[in-house]
Amino acid sequence: MKVDGHCHCGKIIYEANVDPTSVQICHCQDCQTLTGSAFRVAIPATPENFRLLQGDPRVYLKVADSGSRRGHAFCGDCGAPVFRLPTDNNPNYALRVGGLDQRDELEPPARQIWTKRRLSWVTAIGNIPEVSSQI
Ligand SMILES: [Zn+2]
Ligand SMILES: [Zn+2]
Repeated sequence: MKVDGHCHCGKIIYEANVDPTSVQICHCQDCQTLTGSAFRVAIPATPENFRLLQGDPRVYLKVADSGSRRGHAFCGDCGAPVFRLPTDNNPNYALRVGGLDQRDELEPPARQIWTKRRLSWVTAIGNIPEVSSQI
């Protein structure tokens, strides 16, 4: 499935072909801190199926205690995370689902990882009182 991605200000634009059933949620502490949110939602794209069309993302290189390196690409102007670069042990890009125009056309996430770091209220989010737009 073809997806169109961009940062919030629009300086970075990319496209990819992805498997819409491969969305994943990560609850790890890095994803919480790097998104400023409760968890990250991402979908993989192989390098052959990814194309950066415009812009020059900044990259924050995170080196884990294990030595593995992860390049987190983001927009230097608006700060939006856009994708993770291929890594030593993972050859694929990981597109940040919130930056994709087709994010609501992808299948629901197929898997959650790092659930031992999941915030306690996340599994009960359907019980939280809601309004359909900002109050
Ligand atoms: Zn931007
Ligand atoms: Zn994570």
